[in-house]
Amino acid sequence: MGWVDTHCHLQLDERGPETLLSRAGQVDWLVAPGVDLESSIASLDLAERYPDRVLATSGLHPHDAGSWATDGTELAELARGASAVGETGLDLYRNLAPREDQIASFEGQIELALELGKPVIVHCRDAFADVFSILERTGAGPSAVLHCWTGGTRWTRRFLDLGVTFSFAGPVAFETGETIRLGAALVPPDRALVETDTPFLAPPPHRGEPNEPAWVSLVGAALAAVWGMGADEVAMLTSANAARVFLSPNQDRPSRG
Ligand SMILES: [Zn+2]
Repeated sequence: MGWVDTHCHLQLDERGPETLLSRAGQVDWLVAPGVDLESSIASLDLAERYPDRVLATSGLHPHDAGSWATDGTELAELARGASAVGETGLDLYRNLAPREDQIASFEGQIELALELGKPVIVHCRDAFADVFSILERTGAGPSAVLHCWTGGTRWTRRFLDLGVTFSFAGPVAFETGETIRLGAALVPPDRALVETDTPFLAPPPHRGEPNEPAWVSLVGAALAAVWGMGADEVAMLTSANAARVFLSPNQDRPSRG
């Protein structure tokens, strides 16, 4: 049983998809989120080139939320042929785009995901309260994948009630990740995914190196320790969740022939 890396920016990595995919023998398939127009087009190209390994998304990252006004229509068009919308969300830590632009872009992408019946990948940094209220108000919780979840027990409980799916990344394995692990302990295994966020956030013992999809198993092993189960079981559970979240009912699961 292999892993599914549900957040891997293969198209943003200069080492190239061929190299990274060939090194990720235990990764059955992955999701390559777009962060702007160019990377969303590249994501769809990758999915076409590797139909058995890569799923595409179309989205605009909160850092670039100002472009929603100009690029939103084209991103929405691309989303029709993608498996998910995003990554979108709010980043009030780096605040690279004005808050009101981030909210407009986030709400626009939520609306799009609900209209298309596709999941929406959500980036949430220093923005738990705002992301919570937007998901609550729009009713999009069950469609939301909270990527690189870093919430502790309080926010994990509240978001669980909204019906979201939590995706865990390198920080759950960091030495400083105790708060995240306490949150993860509350997440039922059928509501969890694993990801690398390649090329960022490499898990130990690779911290500081460019991340790659092969290391999703290190994230999974950290979750396995939290849940007191074997890594194989975590791979099986999270891969089944990924298929349920990202593949439409009549779509074949990507599989290497
Ligand atoms: Zn990302």
